Amino acid sequence: MLTSAADELTHVGYTLMEVTFGEEGSSLVERGERFSPFMTDHLMRRLNGTDSDMLRRLFEETVERCIAQGLVGGEAFAVDASMIKADANRQHSVPGDAWMPPDDPGHAVRDYLSVLDHAAFGAATPVTPKFIATADPASRWTGANGGLAFFAYSDNYLIDLKYAFIVDVEATTSVRQAEVGAAHTMLDRTEARFRLKPERLAADTGYGDAANLAWLVDERGIEPHIPVFEKDRTDGSFGRGDFTYNALADRYTCPGGRELRRYWQDSREAKAKPPTDGLYRYRARKADCDACDLRQRCRPGEAGRKVLRSIHEPAHDVARQIATTEAYLISRRERKRVEMLFAHLKRILKVDRLRLRGPYGAKDEILMAVIAQNLRKLAKLIPMPAPAVA
Ligand code: SF4
Repeated sequence: MLTSAADELTHVGYTLMEVTFGEEGSSLVERGERFSPFMTDHLMRRLNGTDSDMLRRLFEETVERCIAQGLVGGEAFAVDASMIKADANRQHSVPGDAWMPPDDPGHAVRDYLSVLDHAAFGAATPVTPKFIATADPASRWTGANGGLAFFAYSDNYLIDLKYAFIVDVEATTSVRQAEVGAAHTMLDRTEARFRLKPERLAADTGYGDAANLAWLVDERGIEPHIPVFEKDRTDGSFGRGDFTYNALADRYTCPGGRELRRYWQDSREAKAKPPTDGLYRYRARKADCDACDLRQRCRPGEAGRKVLRSIHEPAHDVARQIATTEAYLISRRERKRVEMLFAHLKRILKVDRLRLRGPYGAKDEILMAVIAQNLRKLAKLIPMPAPAVA
């Protein structure tokens, strides 16, 4: 039986070397010593809270070990994000539009200022947060979990579905755009680093917007096993699904049997430019609608009926078709493994609140946690050597 972290690490093939201070471990790694380094204290001074990629290299080493043991299939991945509370609270915050950097900023503020243009943090959304924490301004005030709002970072996992090993991880601000962007970053990085490119990707509706599906299908050739995110009418009137699209003619047919077209005049079609918001508009003839018995149900309060179609709709159609297959049902079940890893992270490893501040602190603390998660699983899956016979 493995009784300690040291036993587990030795069992999966690491050579252990004990250091007393963070600086000592850091200098050994930076000198390029040929041994397998690993830190057991995630608060070791100067081994965290920096933009050093040392922890990332350690994490990638765990993934390489999993690949070498044949425990990563590389065919099916799942991606998801979970919010983790930041070490910040409402009492020490200011309204988002009133925040100013202090004259003598600490490392968390300096790190926040350095990622203001980063897609995973400051540039993820133009929306000013309601509150900004003075101690950790990069954490995001969010009520997206449905309960009381709090300051948080998002922990993004990309896992291989064979044994649910984490093949990449990213810390971002807690907004959906940043989480979708992190999924792209992780898929590209995993392909570049390990030559792993999945045939299918499982995720929840948060990743089912048109632009993301188009990126997966058209640019990366990955099957999106993702429910399509669509806004539809909730007032009882006819929704998008009641209109039939004819791809050859590029027209919709309404429940009343009439056509909806993007252009009713050839001269307008000739001058048309791509829509700036990515949505084509198909309109019925006003005369058809005025004479229609279904108009009360079809266009309540509207002058004429129109249907919007994304320029990425073909990728939507691919995802909708996949959602009717047996493989999709399997993916939907398998993607729960990411949620189980988040539950393990928070309930067993007790990482339900970050202890390090700033975007780099969050990144490092999350990297340390996934290194531990991968190694624990590796230790369980690698068979124990047979006891020596006396
Ligand atoms: S109101 Fe217009 S678009 Fe709606 S069903 Fe009637 S003809 Fe078709």
